[in-house]
Amino acid sequence: MWPLSVRRAVRRCQRLYRETRVIGLALKSTAHPVLAHMVVIRRCNLACTYCSEFDDFSKPVPTIELINRIDLLARLGTTAVTLTGGEPLLHPEIEEVIRHIRRRGMMAVMVTNGYLLNVEKINRLNRSGLDRLQISIDNVRPDDVSMKSLKVLDQKLRWLSEYAEFPVNIHSVVGACSEHPEDALTIATRAKELGLISTVGIVHDETGRLRPLNAEQRRVIEEIDKLNKPLFSFARHNPWRRNLVHGLPNEWHCGAGGRHLYICENGLVHYCMAQRGYPAIPLARYTLEDVAREAKTEKSCAPYCTIFCIQRVALLDELRENPHQALLKLFPGDGVGTQPKIPLPIRLLTNVLTAPHTSHGSRFFTRAASRLLNIE
Ligand code: SF4
Ligand code: SF4
Repeated sequence: MWPLSVRRAVRRCQRLYRETRVIGLALKSTAHPVLAHMVVIRRCNLACTYCSEFDDFSKPVPTIELINRIDLLARLGTTAVTLTGGEPLLHPEIEEVIRHIRRRGMMAVMVTNGYLLNVEKINRLNRSGLDRLQISIDNVRPDDVSMKSLKVLDQKLRWLSEYAEFPVNIHSVVGACSEHPEDALTIATRAKELGLISTVGIVHDETGRLRPLNAEQRRVIEEIDKLNKPLFSFARHNPWRRNLVHGLPNEWHCGAGGRHLYICENGLVHYCMAQRGYPAIPLARYTLEDVAREAKTEKSCAPYCTIFCIQRVALLDELRENPHQALLKLFPGDGVGTQPKIPLPIRLLTNVLTAPHTSHGSRFFTRAASRLLNIE
């Protein structure tokens, strides 16, 4: 077998190609869902007090049923599927589910609390073709609210650092329910030490209200952003978060129900984890007309929404509709009156796939890029 560093490098190249294809397809057409979250089991092995997405008794969704749902998502043109729960690692055949997502040409991502990871499980996830793993960690030490703690999970993170062939994102939160904002920085620093990615989100208070962050909470977010310096990171350039940290609303269009689907354990399509019950149509009866209608429907919850993965999808639509405005929103420069700093590759991909083509040369480049990415 090839050494791990070679296997990781090969998978990185393959993933980059497929991720670019997902972005290319989203920029080319608004007629398909870009991302679906799919619940594979509602049961969880933990019981975080703020969580309304788990129970302690549900059986796993039968694998045959999940495979059928993946086929239905593929038929709608979905390009990425995130497996969620409850705790998805409680599903006894999770690797087969991931393998089927990959067989159908979609990106396979999983969100977990990490408790059930061990070396054997990580190797099985490697072999299944998992594209990304996200672990949410709430605090440094377990407390009455959450056991998703760095102290408990550190050994799992070391194993991931040593054996995982897929990128691992450690997600922490700052906001009303997190009493120790500096915990998020400790978690992100540890992730960086281990060569893992870190992101930080904002949480509502127990009534669902988003409060402006205080100076310490904002400092923690800035410090975490400084730890991550890839060419482009949505986490760092997130225009929605820029407003939300000050308690300000965002003006944007949420395409949930069209560009993003949330498939519950009963196989119903919902807008997202926070807006279950709408439109609640069985996936088996969900059509491209439903996708088109719900993508256009206004969502009253949009101004204070903190679901960044769906905002990332909306950003692709903004890039398609109005590339110049969207890029300015993403890269506003360092202050009032300064020039925007848009990385060259991002400008090129957006121009090639969205600009009106008036010359033979530009049409040739668009066709070549589309062919290369297999998105014609
Ligand atoms: S680990 Fe995740 S799904 Fe389980 S109770 Fe906590 S937040 Fe909910
Ligand atoms: S705005 Fe946010 S909370 Fe509302 S439906 Fe869209 S993703 Fe869900």
